[in-house]
This record gives sequence, structure tokens and C-alpha cells, in this order.
Amino acid sequence: MTLIHRAKIKCEKCDNEFEIALYGSVNVTLNPELKAKALKGEINSGICPRCNARYEIELPFLYHDMEKEIMIWVFPEKERERAEEIKKELLESSGEFMRIWFKEHPLIIVFGAEELKEKLKEL
Ligand SMILES: [Zn+2]
Repeated sequence: MTLIHRAKIKCEKCDNEFEIALYGSVNVTLNPELKAKALKGEINSGICPRCNARYEIELPFLYHDMEKEIMIWVFPEKERERAEEIKKELLESSGEFMRIWFKEHPLIIVFGAEELKEKLKEL
């Protein structure tokens, strides 16, 4: 499932109000168009339609490829120093489905779109 909700943003440069789509998870099997966006670092970001200012909302999302059985947690680049903490939190907070998933799959966390790209080449 691709989870989405919309957040209203007020542009700091031109005061224009516009909406940004926010994803908690991105299912590239059901929404293949989101794969290119994820690789370009365009998930949870938006561009002001009036002045083209770019806004990135620093929110982690889950990259899910059902066909290849891949789940990757993509965190903002600047959270890299919290890697160990994040890993622990994810393992502790996951529900039943994730507990079963982790029995057969490693927990994969990346920081930023570049690392996601590299990781997908390896898998
Ligand atoms: Zn603007």
C-alpha cells in the first residue's frame, strides 16, 4: 500500500500556499512511477508552483517492492548519525507483520536517495 497524505505549505519566498504529498510508504510494485521519484530524492518534497522554490520535508518512508521482496527504510541524510538508534526503534516498534518479515529478511535502512540507489543495485 502506498500511504499518502497532503500537507499545506506556505512558500517562504513568495507566500504562495500549495500542497505537498507526503508518503509514509511507497509501494513501487503498485505505483511504479514512484520508483523514479524515490531514486531522485523527490519523495516527500515539492516545488512551489509560483516561484519554483524547492521544499523537502524530512520524513522517513518505507520503500516496498513486492515483486522483489524488498523493503528499505529511507531516512533523511542528516539522520545518519542516529543509525543505531533508528535500527533499534524500528525493530522494537514493528507490528506482527514486520516480526514475521524480519525472520526471513534483513532490516535495511538507508540515508538519502543516493544510498537507496546504491542499495538497489546490490539487491
Ligand atoms: Zn513560492
